[in-house]
Amino acid sequence: MRMNNMTQNQTQSTSANKKISTYLTLIVLIVMALGITALFIAVETYLVGDQLAAGVLAGIGLIALTLSVFLLYQSKRQSAEVKIEVPKVMTTIECKCGSKTMREFQPGDYVFKDLDVPCQKCPTTKQMITGIYKEVKEKEKTYNV
Ligand SMILES: [Zn+2]
Repeated sequence: MRMNNMTQNQTQSTSANKKISTYLTLIVLIVMALGITALFIAVETYLVGDQLAAGVLAGIGLIALTLSVFLLYQSKRQSAEVKIEVPKVMTTIECKCGSKTMREFQPGDYVFKDLDVPCQKCPTTKQMITGIYKEVKEKEKTYNV
């Protein structure tokens, strides 16, 4: 499991989001079931004659139902945003000769790390990581506004 997480860094965030959304759906379903149960008990309590308890239970049931619908709506909106926004983490590699290359972030990358991979122009010089940043596309920027 740990090895898998390290090698598949890019897919890690999306699978985590899926886990959260299924977890959230489960909570929503439980809250919804509790709300419906509360409403049923409220009706029964009302028929028995305890109007105050029935009112409280009905209130709890309605709040639970509203909350679950709200959460469901929120989670759907969130998952839609996640689909659009999958930022890549990029690593900038520079050589002393001035050549600059970029590649996808790899586990173990950090700024000022010396790389064993030589540059294409001067094979004797070692390259160094000069920056790690998240790639932001123009479309995503306008979407958020
Ligand atoms: Zn070079």
